[in-house]
Amino acid sequence: MITIKNSESILKMKEAGKIVGLVHDKLKGLIEPGISLIELDNQAEQLIRKLGATPSFKGYGGFPRTICASVDEQVIHGIPNKRKLREGEIVSIDVGAYYLGYHGDAAFTAAVGTISEEKARLIEITEKSFFEGFKMAKAGNRLGDISHSIEKVVLEAGFFIVREFVGHGIGAELHEDPAIPNYGPPGRGPLLEPGMTLAIEPMVNMGTESIIILDDGWTVVTKDNKPSAHYEHTILITESEPVILTKGKEIE
Ligand code: MG
Repeated sequence: MITIKNSESILKMKEAGKIVGLVHDKLKGLIEPGISLIELDNQAEQLIRKLGATPSFKGYGGFPRTICASVDEQVIHGIPNKRKLREGEIVSIDVGAYYLGYHGDAAFTAAVGTISEEKARLIEITEKSFFEGFKMAKAGNRLGDISHSIEKVVLEAGFFIVREFVGHGIGAELHEDPAIPNYGPPGRGPLLEPGMTLAIEPMVNMGTESIIILDDGWTVVTKDNKPSAHYEHTILITESEPVILTKGKEIE
């Protein structure tokens, strides 16, 4: 069942989303060669708790940390450890915060120092695919219109969509209906209505759509070990244009 949020719930989701945006801003400022993933995790947890919220992921299904940090060939769900970031890598950071009974969930992929043109294009296309999907997130459209717009951007760029993991509804629960694939035909699926809150999150691989889950039970990597990027926001469907609830200062 897809939950429709009333105005009170939406206000709370905006607050939860704002916290996620602030954590993104903080982490973006810290990512550079030499910083460890656990340091990023600590900083994220401290800020979330300082703002009166709780990390959404810590303890979720047994996940041990506050953020997911996935480097290069890691697609999603990387567990922060003492590993230090190195020049030329890309790192996907996923942050969830629970505040006033609601979750915000968003991810970005950042360059560590100077990266190859190929990796820069992967990040750019992943972000672009999100925004093309986001444009379709309007009342009266169908869920498949979002999915299809994302897929179109990625395939036209010659990259690959991860199919085993998808976006999701979000609210009082971190993962709610509907599942939001980043592929599929337009004009299908549930009708979008004002008050729906969705986490749209394309995961884009450079060389293959095939993925493997590592023995830690969490970390998803590309089968060919080529890089992968991730971009996500929690968004709100309205009577008119959709709204990003988890934006940091980079998006106006
Ligand atoms: Mg998500």
